[in-house]
Amino acid sequence: MARKKLIAANWKMYKNPTQTEEFFRAFLPLVFEHNRDEIVVCPPYVDLQAALESAKGSQIAVGAQDVYWKDEGAFTGEISSAMLVAVACTHVIVGHSERRQYFGETDDTVNLKLKSALEHGLTPIVCVGEVLEEREAGLTEDVLRRQCLRAFNALSAKKAAKLVIAYEPVWAIGTGKTATPQMASDVHQLIRGEAAKAFGEEFAAQLRILYGGSVKPENASALMSEEEIDGALVGGASLDAKSFAAIVKY
Ligand code: PEP
Repeated sequence: MARKKLIAANWKMYKNPTQTEEFFRAFLPLVFEHNRDEIVVCPPYVDLQAALESAKGSQIAVGAQDVYWKDEGAFTGEISSAMLVAVACTHVIVGHSERRQYFGETDDTVNLKLKSALEHGLTPIVCVGEVLEEREAGLTEDVLRRQCLRAFNALSAKKAAKLVIAYEPVWAIGTGKTATPQMASDVHQLIRGEAAKAFGEEFAAQLRILYGGSVKPENASALMSEEEIDGALVGGASLDAKSFAAIVKY
């Protein structure tokens, strides 16, 4: 069975509820009845309600950009998977490189967050990827193997059924530099191999692996036509309705 592509918007720390409504007012008509791929918008937490209301009745799903692994408790500032489900979020980004770089996210917290999201029925989009120094030192494969191994720790194929991976070479995020379709494809094969080791060949064959890192309307088509690339995680270019719609319709 062919893997349905997933095109996800990561708005990072941009837009308030009013701007979220404005985005959807412009975006929805542009992608009306465009059902080829799955589309998800991940705004900041305070915009989730506005996004969910705006997307109601459309094919667009709404996700969060992070999650905490406990269900509730004295964890000031955190949001749990149970809370995301309660407001009708269906997806969540886990382990984005900006969380790893600025907020102390580790391979182990990624694993805890991933397990929590899966237990609550969310679709986790787990980000992995090497930084420039690692690529230049020839460590890309080692880094990705370690990130996958640790993220998949203590999970079964059954529990991980909804897992989505996003390969995001950190040197390509927000820099205008994109991995070539071939570079991305090579890493996607490696990730699929790690998933096969952890969960079996059948699981790996169905696993969706997105590419992220300066995806734009101009390069989306070349990237999406690679057999190994099952969609995109889009930052900067997802903030503008026209540009995100152009990517969705690559
Ligand atoms: C991202 O935030 O995941 C991302 C890929 O950003 P950009 O598209 O801006 O490089």
